[in-house]
Amino acid sequence: MIIFNKIDEIKLYLRKQQNAGQTIGFVPTMGYLHEGHQSLIRKAAEENDITVVSIFVNPTQFGPSEDLAKYPRDLKRDEIKAKEAGAHIIFHPDDKEMYPEGYKTYIEVEELSDVLCGASRKGHFKGVATVVAKLFNIVHPDKAYFGQKDAQQALVIKQMVKDLNMDTEIVVCPIIREEDGLAKSSRNVYLSEDERKRSLVLSKSLRRAQELIEQGITDAKIIRSEIVGMIEKENVIIDYVEIVSADTLKQVDKIEGKILIALAVKVGNTRLIDNIILER
Ligand code: AMP
Repeated sequence: MIIFNKIDEIKLYLRKQQNAGQTIGFVPTMGYLHEGHQSLIRKAAEENDITVVSIFVNPTQFGPSEDLAKYPRDLKRDEIKAKEAGAHIIFHPDDKEMYPEGYKTYIEVEELSDVLCGASRKGHFKGVATVVAKLFNIVHPDKAYFGQKDAQQALVIKQMVKDLNMDTEIVVCPIIREEDGLAKSSRNVYLSEDERKRSLVLSKSLRRAQELIEQGITDAKIIRSEIVGMIEKENVIIDYVEIVSADTLKQVDKIEGKILIALAVKVGNTRLIDNIILER
């Protein structure tokens, strides 16, 4: 496993490999790796000659009142987890390497960035799109792997790649969950024992929504109010509960075609997200 901190060095190394005919799979992360990240790394390692994992807690995607400073970091642990899952290279730049003094360029993916998480986290997807574009320019991946856990992020990145004629194929991988249903997240370490129990309502309410839809209920309002009712019982704060088209993120009244049910809930001080994609 090789760890690069400098853009010039990883670029030089990867260009040599690519000139020698090696394909590159890329998994961008903010570190504190768990089995969700590892599932993406495994898939990348299966499908490419070289697997690169970036670990960078990207300051431009955090709002001023968010958890940038306390976001969990542990490079030694990440090295072990990345290697175990089949990564060959870690790219771990510092903030100055990615955003040197005088940095001025940002990417905005319109509309898709303004709803759901983008509505409550202003500028979040501008930061995400910008850092992913920079990382793609550094790594030149043949394929890049993203989790459906961040369904909106995956859509924003797909749109950016299409609009900017980037040569990377985007692969979206399923949500990995704890045994009791909680979606794995680096932020789960923030949860107290009691909050951890209450956070189960996210996956439970999504499963209930799926059941209702399978029973034939097609009115999105009914599904939404069932989810909201379940969550409200748990003494947590709802950021949003939305039922939208899985392709456009526009709200739907009727459950038909491919829909995304997405939630963001604050359990104590921890903001958790979860979602399900259903096709009817
Ligand atoms: P993060 O480190 O939170 O920025 O996540 C890096 C990548 O891992 C993103 O593409 C996430 O969607 C993905 N990811 C995070 N948690 C999970 C999970 N539970 N299952 C699948 N993918 C995940």
